[in-house]
Amino acid sequence: TKKGEEEAIRRSNALENDGIGTLRKVSRQEYLKKREQKKLEELRDDIEDEQYLFEGVKLTEAEKRDQRYKKEIYELVKKRTEESEDTNEYRIPDAYDMEGGVNQEKRFAVAMQRYRDPTAEEKMNPFAEQEAWEEHQIGKATLKFGSKNRKEKHDDFDFVFEDQIEFIQAAVMDGVNVEQNSIESVEESAAKSAFEKLQSDRKTLPIYPYREELLQAVHDHQVLVIVGETGSGKTTQIPQYLHEAGYSQRGKIGCTQPRRVAAMSVAARVSQEMGVKLGHEVGYSIRFEDCTSEKTIVKYMTDGMLLREFLGEPDLASYSVVMVDEAHERTLSTDILFGLVKDIARFRPDLKLLISSATLDAEKFSDYFDSAPIFKIPGRRFPVDIHYTKAPEADYLDAAVVTALQIHVTQPPGDGDILVFLTGQEEIEMAEEILKHRTRGLGTKIAELIICPIYANLPTELQAKIFEPTPEGARKVVLATNIAETSLTIDGIKYVIDPGFCKMKSYNPRTGMESLLVTPISKASANQRAGRSGRTGPGKCFRLYTAYNYYNDLDDNTIPEIQRTNLANVVLSLKSLGINDLLNFDFMDPPPSEALLKALELLYALSAVNKHGELTKAGRRMAEFPLDPMLSKMIVASDKYQCSDEIISIAAMLSIGNSIFYRPKDKQVHADNARLNFHMGNVGDHIALLKVYSSWKETNFSTQWCYENYIQVRSMKRARDIRDQLEGLLERVEIELTPNPNDMDSIKKAITSGFFPHSARLQKNGSYRTVKHPQTVQIHPSSGLAQVRPRWVIYHELVLTTKEYMRQVTELKPEWLVEIAPHYYQLKD
Ligand code: ADP
Ligand code: MG
Repeated sequence: TKKGEEEAIRRSNALENDGIGTLRKVSRQEYLKKREQKKLEELRDDIEDEQYLFEGVKLTEAEKRDQRYKKEIYELVKKRTEESEDTNEYRIPDAYDMEGGVNQEKRFAVAMQRYRDPTAEEKMNPFAEQEAWEEHQIGKATLKFGSKNRKEKHDDFDFVFEDQIEFIQAAVMDGVNVEQNSIESVEESAAKSAFEKLQSDRKTLPIYPYREELLQAVHDHQVLVIVGETGSGKTTQIPQYLHEAGYSQRGKIGCTQPRRVAAMSVAARVSQEMGVKLGHEVGYSIRFEDCTSEKTIVKYMTDGMLLREFLGEPDLASYSVVMVDEAHERTLSTDILFGLVKDIARFRPDLKLLISSATLDAEKFSDYFDSAPIFKIPGRRFPVDIHYTKAPEADYLDAAVVTALQIHVTQPPGDGDILVFLTGQEEIEMAEEILKHRTRGLGTKIAELIICPIYANLPTELQAKIFEPTPEGARKVVLATNIAETSLTIDGIKYVIDPGFCKMKSYNPRTGMESLLVTPISKASANQRAGRSGRTGPGKCFRLYTAYNYYNDLDDNTIPEIQRTNLANVVLSLKSLGINDLLNFDFMDPPPSEALLKALELLYALSAVNKHGELTKAGRRMAEFPLDPMLSKMIVASDKYQCSDEIISIAAMLSIGNSIFYRPKDKQVHADNARLNFHMGNVGDHIALLKVYSSWKETNFSTQWCYENYIQVRSMKRARDIRDQLEGLLERVEIELTPNPNDMDSIKKAITSGFFPHSARLQKNGSYRTVKHPQTVQIHPSSGLAQVRPRWVIYHELVLTTKEYMRQVTELKPEWLVEIAPHYYQLKD
């Protein structure tokens, strides 16, 4: 929310000013004030709306509590706004903004603390506490990066530094075992073939000296926890060592990754190292993409895919080794895998189980796996200087770009590359654009800057670019999501820029609402990020937050996903594995029981389980689809409404997210018109997506047609792939592929069958209220219905930016709700 609003302020400033280089920075104070006023207005609207919506309706206890809670917050915020006219404090993380009740208790604690009365001293100087603390921590060791002297020497660069950022060096992260670093001389390796070079590179990895010891440990123990610094070679080497030692003769060696890109990229690397074609002996499997064959013996896959493999092969009989990699990430699927693999290891003594992690909380893994031994790979890392900003940065994206340019022009090229952590594709693209804009026209005044983005949806052929060696005289700047934190290691990084945020799913078990939020990272993450700069030599990390923020505001560790997510999908998978007693499942950290119940409630509403919590026939069919239960339900219901052909196209289009249309800067009007074509007749976003897909199909999947309509051909191809697979799955659950292109009501009813919990009703003030768990929401401006505002709508998902937005919206007849989900909605009398 906070970042979202900053982003909005930033963007509207960008419109006011003509060049990105002259962006005016909105002061934090200005922005906080604006935001609090807005929040206040929203809350008031909320409360008024509620009274309107609930006129004559009996409220449940939970709904009453909800209302009381809102009123309470309203009063607090109001009081706060009145009081804080002239205080300008900085707060991060802003727990109240973490909608979705990640941690209700904490949220309240922070909220309460915020509203306490300031002491007399604080009133005079709200920064006093922070300043005193920083003074104490830092002493006088102040180092200004890009110092004033530099300006005299390089007048040419003055304009770049208009909004220079001052950093203070506050700490040094010590290096470890740096003397081990025995990289071969350049001449030596140049003489070798690429393959020989790869082989000798393998031997320089920190894990190599421990190869025999590791193999011995795997031989001696069934379960082994492996810990080693990121980049030490766990992911790429261990499966190869096991293969070389003969484990692949008894079955596949499987290695799970929390991220798709990591699975693909690591598999590609390992296939090169083994000198085989990707997809043959070495392959990968990610959702909707299986790049393996009969021959595959080393298989990288997302943790979610291994979970799905359990459905077809409950004892994983075809595997001799399972390595649950990046265990420290504690993704939902990884956490569930822990329970499942622990269980099968008991009755499959021949199965080897490796749990590998980049951080040192290995004790916890060891304890969970019945005191499995821990194998530590001594890492090597050069010392890293940590720099903090002197004052909080209101606009971290801009600050990150400025810092990258500062580094680029003040440090000799060839001295090291830059890695910037951003939260997602949108931010990365924006940063790329700003960087290009600012360096344009500088020609030879600065060294070449190669911009390499990396995020989950980046096309495969572009992913390899980040690993290409930087040409002499140039510098690479990698703009990455969290993926570069531990999953991927990019050699040659010397500078890390860390704005301190990541995108995180948050879930409110009270309302069942899930949102993707930009959230402050944990201390553990911040240190992982910093460590990325010290792999090949001493590094520097620039944190775009203050030392005070780091020590006082960041959590120590990231909350495991299982405790902050919607569990419906997992519960459905576990149920179809025959695991019924979820409350007693062997979780490493159990999810809140409220979230489990909510998941069961949703599955019951979708008729995937009966009232005893047992899987129904529909539930069994739904579990076949690698999709969220609401999407699977929509597909299963399309059987009844005789429109499965259309519905799987819609499901495929929804699955690729919002990367279908594009708007080139110079042709925005054309692009918007092309898009409006598909929305003709206010058909709603789902049908518009269907129209895009079927029109493309009619042109025989023409690329030209995509260009003409400002549609991303790559996304469409992906949609086609997904659709093909869904078609295959239809057959498996014995649903016939029935086209029914002209019966819009049937299509909409099938959608409603899956998404009825996501219905919303127009309010008299023009915003919407979700029906089941009342909350104020808006139609996303990108929707074809944003201006139309039908009285009743159904939405695909909520996204939280400046407001809580509904994305992909379709009009609904309210009587459908009662017809389709009579157990969920009743008519008011
Ligand atoms: P860990 O799993 O311990 O973090 P990895 O096995 O991922 O370590 O990485 C070992 C080395 O392999 C690193 O130096 C990394 O740069 C290199 N590497 C990994 N994937 C690729 C790739 N796709 N292309 C080039 N190098 C890679
Ligand atoms: Mg790894």
